[in-house]
Amino acid sequence: MNKNFNLAFLGTEACDMDWSRYGEPGIYGSTQTLVNGTVLIDAGRTGFRSLARFQVAPESLEEVWFTHYHDDHCFPAEVAQIVQAHGTAAGPLVFRGTALLLEALRGALPSEVATQVAWTPFEVGHAFETHGWTVTPLLANHCDDLCDNLPVHYLVEGPCAKFLYALDGAWLMKKARNALQGKRLDAIVWDATVERPGDYRIFEHNDFTMIQTMVKALVDAAIVDANTRLVLDHLARSLWQNPIRVPAPYLVAEDGMELEF
Ligand SMILES: [Zn+2]
Ligand SMILES: [Zn+2]
Repeated sequence: MNKNFNLAFLGTEACDMDWSRYGEPGIYGSTQTLVNGTVLIDAGRTGFRSLARFQVAPESLEEVWFTHYHDDHCFPAEVAQIVQAHGTAAGPLVFRGTALLLEALRGALPSEVATQVAWTPFEVGHAFETHGWTVTPLLANHCDDLCDNLPVHYLVEGPCAKFLYALDGAWLMKKARNALQGKRLDAIVWDATVERPGDYRIFEHNDFTMIQTMVKALVDAAIVDANTRLVLDHLARSLWQNPIRVPAPYLVAEDGMELEF
């Protein structure tokens, strides 16, 4: 069992890119992250193409976890290519998400593709076990256009390390914050769509000052300490100064960046 975590940031952009130009300089992939080489979190507008770009063989994937059904995180055409390239020789690819998300995605895939997937819904707030980890999907503060199709963050607890994958979403919900009580996190991946205060998007995404305020509260509660890796991800590059500068200890996710902890 792998005791540590490796996060590979295969795509790090929010949604202000022309993804028909993916592969050209300055065009970042839609936000998706690979955990320990086997679990992909989200597969959006560049989902399949980002695997190819960073030489991740689809056959090596075991699971895909979806955060929510926005097309920069869950895009059926790219998902279908991943499933087809994965095949079923080593067993079906496991998809995890809310029942509503999986139902909608299943309906959007060609039936011969949908039958190759192991559809594995979870309930928000109820932990599941996989790979020796305990994973808790926590309600995210994001987008009421999704109606009952709830967006989630993921709290992932392994034998020796823990991290929170907190995108998409603005301020952590109180229930999510309470789920962190008594746990020291090794990393948090933040929704950092916006840099400066005053942008209307803050009602569903963070700006950087919001993240700093939340981090202060999490430091006071000993959930975050000097060794916690704080990653800013899902950036809308048009809403950040260029080049992007952030104070330590914050890290800006770049396509292809890897983090071990
Ligand atoms: Zn997004
Ligand atoms: Zn979204």
